[in-house]
Amino acid sequence: MSSALARPRALAALALTLVLAPLVAGATGDLDEVDHKVKPADGNLWSSRYGHGRMIDGHCPPRRRCVAFTFDDGPSWETTPRLLDELDRRGLPATFFVTGHRLDGRGEVARRNREVLQRTWARGYLVGNHTYNHDLLDTMNEAQLRFELDRTSALIEEALGTRVWLFRAPFGALHHPTAVRAVFSRGYTPVFWGMDSNDWRVNTPEGVLANVRAELERSPRGGVLLMHDTLPWSVAAFPLIVDELERRSAELVARGEQPYQVVSMEAFWQPLRTAPAPSRPPRPRRPRRRG
Ligand SMILES: [Zn+2]
Repeated sequence: MSSALARPRALAALALTLVLAPLVAGATGDLDEVDHKVKPADGNLWSSRYGHGRMIDGHCPPRRRCVAFTFDDGPSWETTPRLLDELDRRGLPATFFVTGHRLDGRGEVARRNREVLQRTWARGYLVGNHTYNHDLLDTMNEAQLRFELDRTSALIEEALGTRVWLFRAPFGALHHPTAVRAVFSRGYTPVFWGMDSNDWRVNTPEGVLANVRAELERSPRGGVLLMHDTLPWSVAAFPLIVDELERRSAELVARGEQPYQVVSMEAFWQPLRTAPAPSRPPRPRRPRRRG
């Protein structure tokens, strides 16, 4: 599947002046050459290569229609495998933001969840850090932040044999300078979202689909979509959402317009590699209800 060449206009600076990390330009190349089913050869979007100190704001590039699926709060041995099978069957990319507490310990549940994480990675999907306890980062001190970020990082590395560099803040909330610095100083690139499935507010696949339809009406060009692979009705909604995108795409093509493309997070890296560092002051982000 070819990608959208992402060039988000509103790369809202998120306290970038706090980290002062230079952009280290990496290898350039046409993203359309990238097979998005296969993760990058150098690991999981190594941030020093792609855009240290930057963030992915979740909006589609101008003049493009794209959807990047992201699934948070797993892995869950009970619900994630079904989603992996469906992604595999349809040949679509996705990113999983996992929580450390599900991977930790000697218990059978943690062992099964680690095995699911390994399967996720082995099949080529991207993985990111979603903290250990899924608490609000903005109220934490340095020691708490260290635990949330580094313990989760260690658990992922232990399971996968590599570090990962994508990060998603619980509730999408990342404002306090201490929290922002903790994330960026470790080389993480935070990923926000442009569309919210609000799958935790409903309890049926049809409910999730209705929410995504509303988001597509609100954001017709698409963007990074937030879902949760821990919710069985959200996993069941995934094929319905893909069908909906295909239906809308067929209508768009019939009108001579550009269809939706399901893209990997990789598609959002091009502008981070090449764009100048944002100079505007950071824009506060409203806390999200879930993430
Ligand atoms: Zn979450």
